[in-house]
Amino acid sequence: MTALTAPQFTNEAAAVAHLEASRWPDEVSCPHCGSLNVHRMGGKTQAGMFLCNDCRDKFTGRTGTVMERSKIPVHKWLLAIHLMSSGKNGASAHELHRGLGITYKSAWFLCHRIREAMNGNSGSPMGGAGGQVQADEMYVGNTSKRSKSYRKGLKRKAVAVALVDPGTGEARAFHMELGAGANLVREILVKNASRKSTLVSDESKLYTKVGNEFNAHETVWHAANEYVNKMGFTTNNVENFIGTFKRGMRGTYIHCSEQHLQRYLNEFSFRYSNRSGVGVGDVARAALALKGIEGKRLTYRIPH
Ligand SMILES: [Zn+2]
Repeated sequence: MTALTAPQFTNEAAAVAHLEASRWPDEVSCPHCGSLNVHRMGGKTQAGMFLCNDCRDKFTGRTGTVMERSKIPVHKWLLAIHLMSSGKNGASAHELHRGLGITYKSAWFLCHRIREAMNGNSGSPMGGAGGQVQADEMYVGNTSKRSKSYRKGLKRKAVAVALVDPGTGEARAFHMELGAGANLVREILVKNASRKSTLVSDESKLYTKVGNEFNAHETVWHAANEYVNKMGFTTNNVENFIGTFKRGMRGTYIHCSEQHLQRYLNEFSFRYSNRSGVGVGDVARAALALKGIEGKRLTYRIPH
């Protein structure tokens, strides 16, 4: 683990150099037109500034990233990315507000931008021939009676479906804004999982029909207290992911409005898919999140 006193977290020039090296490992390219014909501008007031000789536009390492138009220094961004990438639960806006000495509002903004950087999966179908995809749904609601939006009962809770490929260790999760429905679950499954896989789920009717489209569908009867079925299949991996999400939301995040649920799901999926158990340490995970900052500034995930 990188010490929190590392130069890129404490010194702005070192932070800018770190950001540039992450973004342009080979050659600096213009974020406006892609040209490599660029040069670093001189002078103290233009520190970190480049000029593109083709489109004549200026840019910095922040241009075209989630950091663009933010007044927060790069070293604070890097520390925030590091903290949010660390461990199982990351860091909340409140922790960043205290740890970075910025206002809660700025910290909240920072957290959501970093979640955008963590948005994105491997893009390849989960499972595959000989592989499996575990699916389970989760209900997320604020259980505090003092909360204005106190949600009572399953009907008033937000629902999400989580998928885990135990082979690669990748997790993906999707907020179902219209509620849980077999057709919506099917859409998520066929879009993300290879039909050559074995689908593993509990006895929920959400998976019965779509299960026929897969190479095989293994059911674990949770209602009958079954956790390993006769064929030796479990949904342990996806339940583990859901457990981490729920504990994290309870401990680290005081509440999460339904509007932002997908972003939190992306954040936890990112950390789970790149966890130390699959060989990705805190430093490498933070480097991956930093890689994700580009081209995300104005993109918002289209709900599935
Ligand atoms: Zn240019």
